[in-house]
Amino acid sequence: MAQILSGKEVAAAITENTRQKADAMRAAGRPAHLRVIRVGDKKSDLAYEKGIRKRSEAAGVDLSVDALPEDATFEDVKRAIERANADWRVKGVLLFLPLPKALDEKKLVNFIAPEKDLDGATDISMLGVYKGTGAGFPPCTPEAVVRILDYYGIEISGKDVVIVGRSLVVGKPLAQMLIARNATVTTCHTKTVDLAKKTAGADILISAAGHRGTIRAEHVREGQVVIDVGINFDDTGKMTGDVEYEEVKNIVSAITPVPGGVGSVTNAVLLAHICEGKVR
Ligand code: NAP
Repeated sequence: MAQILSGKEVAAAITENTRQKADAMRAAGRPAHLRVIRVGDKKSDLAYEKGIRKRSEAAGVDLSVDALPEDATFEDVKRAIERANADWRVKGVLLFLPLPKALDEKKLVNFIAPEKDLDGATDISMLGVYKGTGAGFPPCTPEAVVRILDYYGIEISGKDVVIVGRSLVVGKPLAQMLIARNATVTTCHTKTVDLAKKTAGADILISAAGHRGTIRAEHVREGQVVIDVGINFDDTGKMTGDVEYEEVKNIVSAITPVPGGVGSVTNAVLLAHICEGKVR
């Protein structure tokens, strides 16, 4: 039976550290303050907002929400971002994505000031990940994966890592972050031939495919560490990852559950970024 890598435990440790920094910021008269910008009131956005509110309270971070109507224009959203950029109290901005289809998301995201771009959404943050410029922030989900590995003392340097998924928010930046930590990284996608052969060869297997059952017994081997980034829902509405957990946990040496894995750490990382002091 594999060791369970508890995201909840990692998130609690990060939040405790954030809390100490946030308390110091408050005592110095410049409280940590997160501005969420939400367009419309999608159920998933409201659920995400609720989770962030809870985690902010636990971390001692103030939260304000700029809620725009579903039919907000490009200019409306741009102005909301500029308001947050200009407000000295606001130390970090989170624009909920995806935006309604009518809005040019790629352009709008890049109006966020890099030093307030907590989820590494801007091109400047992405450049920070690829060139190590230190500008902006790395995206929170890939950073959450790295933090889980670090928390449990899992060596990255010199290891063979296979990532399933090559999106700009997870797979690609994660590959870069792990290469920077001296891992040898293979990135797989839907055109990868013989996925199971590639994944079974990894020391650390990370799945961010977004499909239930992507990783099954035949994709893993003994001794592997498996990190499941996927968030999917089965027919009964129950949250699942990409990995067939019950099947795989009896083979590998360590595994993250879903829920209670990577997702738990992502919000904690977001708030940790606020207290890194890029905005004083
Ligand atoms: P995405 O943009 O849809 O990308 C999925 C990637 O996986 C693509 O590169 C795709 O390949 C690849 N892929 C899909 N099915 C595959 C298969 N059967 N075999 C090999 N490769 C496959 O998704 P995303 O935004 O990166 O998110 C991925 C998952 O992570 C989703 O479940 C999402 O909900 C979850 N997520 C979790 C968190 C968290 O905090 N835990 C945060 C963000 C996302 P192609 O490029 O060839 O299409």
